Amino acid sequence: MIAVIRESATTEQLDHFIAWVEAKGLRVNVSQGDDETIIGLIGDTSRIDPFLLESMDIVERVQRVSEPFKKANRKFHPEDTVIDCGRGVRIGGGHFAVIAGPCSVEGDNLLEIGRRVKAAGATLLRGGAYKPRTSPYSYQGMGERGLDLLCEARDELDMPIVTEIMDARDVQLFLDRGIDVMQIGARNSQNFTLLKEVGKTTTPVLLKRGISGTIDELLMAAEYIMSEGNENVILCERGIRTYESRTRNTFDLSAVSVLHHLSHLPVVADPSHAVGYTRYVSDMTLAATAAGADGLEIEVHNCPSEAWSDGAQALLPDQFDAVMAKVGGIRSVIAPEAV
Ligand code: PEP
Ligand code: MN
Repeated sequence: MIAVIRESATTEQLDHFIAWVEAKGLRVNVSQGDDETIIGLIGDTSRIDPFLLESMDIVERVQRVSEPFKKANRKFHPEDTVIDCGRGVRIGGGHFAVIAGPCSVEGDNLLEIGRRVKAAGATLLRGGAYKPRTSPYSYQGMGERGLDLLCEARDELDMPIVTEIMDARDVQLFLDRGIDVMQIGARNSQNFTLLKEVGKTTTPVLLKRGISGTIDELLMAAEYIMSEGNENVILCERGIRTYESRTRNTFDLSAVSVLHHLSHLPVVADPSHAVGYTRYVSDMTLAATAAGADGLEIEVHNCPSEAWSDGAQALLPDQFDAVMAKVGGIRSVIAPEAV
């Protein structure tokens, strides 16, 4: 971290500032230029609030040199992380995984949809048993019965399952059922209690970007999980809120590249929640694949008009078949060596 000192600062003020920094356990490097004085803060600067520094009279501005995320940072872990999601399914480092299924677990159609998505090349089955709905009057999910149906489908189809956890008190329940991948949704992306609790497990976590979350906030959310010991974090771009209203959210595909640059963790893209309308999902699926995502999360329903949630963005199984064939074509061009 660097603090640029105002020209007007007196030697006494500067000494006082340096003593304050040193008292926090940091060392300083003072660089006295013709026009400005720059103080480099050396050591664990995570204990220093940059806004507090900037509020000090003699400080002109503050600049971070190192990122506050460490465990998720590619600088300290240059090679891609590969995460084992169970049943031989891996993601990251050239392993491409497709997560597909209905938004909500609704009943027997889970198996029917699961069969279709598996045949089309999906490697993980998704379905929400606990639904984070904007309205408390909307369908809230089947709860434990939904987890049971997912587990039955997993065994029947031999496919690992991905399902959302909303409450830190449910972690043991998810562990008892052997849920393969716990999803943390956009609305819980900064639920720090939940992040810390899943961080105490070893279960892979699919961590979605917050609705208005920045890339750095997503990485810091990952850091919460990893700092508790669970390094099996999969990042997910699912669209962010912008002024655009023609799509449900704005798909920030640049986040795939930026996250790959900044972090070694696998990056999944979710075109379904990003665009919100079936008619755009296939195009954005192809775009996300071409952008180098390590995986996709796509909502598929056998009868979208009757879906209990997110029917407007669901692909029919036939549409999923068609887009998956093209995804395979793109993968063979951009990652011919990959698995
Ligand atoms: C979901 O995956 O069904 C979901 C609610 O996603 P998000 O948290 O991205 O809105
Ligand atoms: Mn959904």
